[in-house]
Amino acid sequence: MPALRVCSLYPDLMNIYADRGNIAVLRARCEWRGLGFEHGAAGTGDRLDPDAHDLFYIGGGQDRDQVAIAPDMAETKRAGLHEAAGRGAVVLAVCGGYQLLGHSYEVGGEELPGVGLVDLKTVREPGPRLIGNCAIEADLGGGPRVIAGFENHGGRTYLGSGERPLGRVLKGHGNNGRDGFEGVHSRNVIGTYLHGPLLPKNIWLADRLIELALGIELDPLADDELEGAAHASARRAAGV
Ligand code: GLN
Repeated sequence: MPALRVCSLYPDLMNIYADRGNIAVLRARCEWRGLGFEHGAAGTGDRLDPDAHDLFYIGGGQDRDQVAIAPDMAETKRAGLHEAAGRGAVVLAVCGGYQLLGHSYEVGGEELPGVGLVDLKTVREPGPRLIGNCAIEADLGGGPRVIAGFENHGGRTYLGSGERPLGRVLKGHGNNGRDGFEGVHSRNVIGTYLHGPLLPKNIWLADRLIELALGIELDPLADDELEGAAHASARRAAGV
C-alpha cells in the first residue's frame, strides 16, 4: 500500500485557525483506507527535498508571522517547491500561506517576497478586512463541487491574466472582494483563503488531494455521516 508523505512548512508559525486539523484529516482518511501516512516538517533554514514528499502544506498566519518567514521561505524553499510542483506534487496553501505562493505580499509599507509558484500578488489595501463564512464552487476533476469555509484576510489577491482561480465565489469575498473568484489552481498547486479548518469541512477535497498526490483513485468510505454533517453545516453558515 502506498503512503502519503506530507511536509508542513513552518507548522509552529503558520497555523492560525487550527490549520493542523487539515493534517489530522489527511492522516485519518489515509489510515482508514489502510494507506500509510508520514508527516514531516520544514522550518526556518531547512531546504526542501522535492522528491521526499507528495504533498506540501502551508497554513495561515498573521502578518507578523509572514514577516518572520517570508524571506526564509523565498530563500530556502523556493527551488524545492518549484521542482516538486513541476513533477506533480500537491502544494496546498491556506490564507497567509496562499499569499506567499505568489510574487509578493505588500503590507505595512513593506513588500514581502513570495516563492513565485503561481502568478499572483497580494496587497494590503485600505479598507476593512474581508471576514466571514464563504462558499465557492470548484472543479478539481469530476464536476463542480462546493468548498465551504471561513475567510479572514486583510490582503487582496490579484491573479495574473493566465492564472486560473480555484473557484467562483457563491457567498463571501474571495480573493479581493471584487472579481468574484477565490483561490488559485495551477497544476496540483492549490491556494485558498478558506479556513475552517478547510479539510474537516470539505472531506471530498481531502480525498481528492490524496488522489492527486498519490496518482490513485479512492473508493468512498462507508460511513462519512459526521463529515457530511460538517460540510452541510459549513454550507448553511455561508447560506448556500
Ligand atoms: N495576514 C494575512 C492577511 O491578513 C493572512 C491572514 C490569515 O492567514 N488568516 O491578509
